[in-house]
Amino acid sequence: MIRITDRELCCGCSACADCCPHGAITMKADAMGFRYPSVDESLCVDCGICEKVCAFHKPDSAAADTCEAIRFPDLMDESQSGGLAYALMRKAICNGFIVYGAAVDDDFCVRHRRVDSMDGLAPLRLSKYVQSDMKGIPAQVLEDLRNGRKVLFTGTPCQCAGIASAAGKMLRNLLTADIICHGVPSPSVWKGYLESMERRHAKKISSVVFRDPSLGWHGHREAICFGNEKVVSDEYTFFFYQHLMLRPSCTVCPFASLHRVSDITMADCWGVEKILPGFADDNRGCSVLFANTKAGLDFTRDFPDGCSRAPMEIPSEKDQANLYSPSSAHKRAKSFENTYIRKGYDVVLHRFGIQSRSHRIDEFIKKVKRHI
Ligand SMILES: Cc1cc2nc3c(=O)[nH]c(=O)nc-3n(C[C@H](O)[C@H](O)[C@H](O)COP(=O)(O)OP(=O)(O)OC[C@H]3O[C@@H](n4cnc5c(N)ncnc54)[C@H](O)[C@@H]3O)c2cc1C
Ligand code: SF4
Ligand code: SF4
Ligand code: SF4
Repeated sequence: MIRITDRELCCGCSACADCCPHGAITMKADAMGFRYPSVDESLCVDCGICEKVCAFHKPDSAAADTCEAIRFPDLMDESQSGGLAYALMRKAICNGFIVYGAAVDDDFCVRHRRVDSMDGLAPLRLSKYVQSDMKGIPAQVLEDLRNGRKVLFTGTPCQCAGIASAAGKMLRNLLTADIICHGVPSPSVWKGYLESMERRHAKKISSVVFRDPSLGWHGHREAICFGNEKVVSDEYTFFFYQHLMLRPSCTVCPFASLHRVSDITMADCWGVEKILPGFADDNRGCSVLFANTKAGLDFTRDFPDGCSRAPMEIPSEKDQANLYSPSSAHKRAKSFENTYIRKGYDVVLHRFGIQSRSHRIDEFIKKVKRHI
C-alpha cells in the first residue's frame, strides 16, 4: 500500500485514492494545505493497486513533435497567455468532449471541476497560482471514460500523469493538456493571505484574480476585489516567485522536462518578441503550443475560430527554466513554513515579504556581488 514517508515524493494527484477498490484511502491536508493519501489499514487488502497507479516516479513521456507560437486575439483579454487553453476547451466541447480544469470556487479555494457545456467553461480560464484540489476527479474521469465519453483533462503535468495512469487501458478517449509548471503554492498560505487582506481592509472579498490580465501580459500581480474597490498587490506573487511556499514535490519534479507526459503542452511564449519579431509585440499575450503525440497533433491541427500561429524552436532554458529542471526551494523555505504554521500569515509577511529586512539584505548582497 501507499505510504508517504517523504513528502517530496507525492504530488497529491488523488489517483491512488480514487483507484483503491476498497475505499481505504482518503486525501488529508497537512498544515500547509497540501493533500496526501492516508490509508485506513483496517480496509486495506494489500492489493498493490495504489502503488501501481502512482505515476509520480515513472513518467511515460514523449518529446514534443512540434512547437509553435500561437495566439487567439479574441480570447486573450480573459486568458493568461495567448488564449490557447480556452481555445482547446471550446473546441473540445464543440466536439462532444467533457472538459476538466481548475476553477476558483465561491470560497476562493481552487478545485478541479467537470464541465460539459460551453456555459461552464469561463471559470476554467486564467492561471490559479495555488495547488488545485483534485478530490474525486480521477473517479469522475474514469466514469466518463467507462461511459464512452471523450475527455479533455487540463492541469499540471503531474495531474495529467495521474489521470492517464488511472485511465489505464481507457486512454483512447482521453486527451491531456498540461502546462509548463513552475510549481504550485500552498493552499493554506493562499487562504491566510485572503483572511489577512480582509482584516487589513475591514471588508469582505468579492472576487480574486491571481494574475490580472488588465495589467498586461508581462505584469504579474494579483487583484483582490472588495465590491467595486480593486486592490492590486504583489505580496502573494512575491512568495510564489521566491519559492517560499511550493509543494515539496515541485522541487524534485520529474515532469520538468522536454519529455512531456501529455498529448499537448501549453505555456507562456516568453521571449517571443525576440524569437519572432512583430508576431506578438503588444504585451497582450502569446502562448506556446507543443503537440507531443499524434492525438495532440490531430486535435491542434486547426482551430475553427481562427488564430495566428508560427513554428518556432523549442524555448531555451533562459525563457522556460521549468522545461529543463524543477524550481529549487528558497534557502529559507523551511523556516517560512515553520513560521507560517506557528505564527500565521501576518508574521511571514513581516519576516519574509517583499518589504522585510531579510529580503532587503538579500537584495543588498546580490547588488554587492554584481559589482565585485
Ligand atoms: C501553478 C502554475 C504554474 C505555471 N508555471 C508556468 C511556467 O513556469 N511557465 C509558463 O510558461 N507557464 C506557466 N504556467 C502556465 C501559464 O500561466 C498559462 O496558464 C498557460 O500559458 C495557459 O494560458 P492560456 O492563455 O492558454 O489559458 P488560460 O485560460 O490562462 O489557462 C487556464 C488553464 O490552466 C489550467 N489551470 C489554471 N490554474 C491551474 C492550477 N492551479 N492547477 C492546474 N491547472 C490549472 C486550467 O485548467 C486551464 O486549462 C503556470 C500555470 C500555473 C497554474
Ligand atoms: S493496497 Fe489496495 S486496498 Fe490497500 S490502499 Fe492500496 S489500493 Fe487500497
Ligand atoms: S497517486 Fe498521486 S496522490 Fe497518490 S501517492 Fe502517488 S502522487 Fe501521491
Ligand atoms: S512542479 Fe511538478 S509536482 Fe509540482 S505541480 Fe507542477 S508538475 Fe506537479
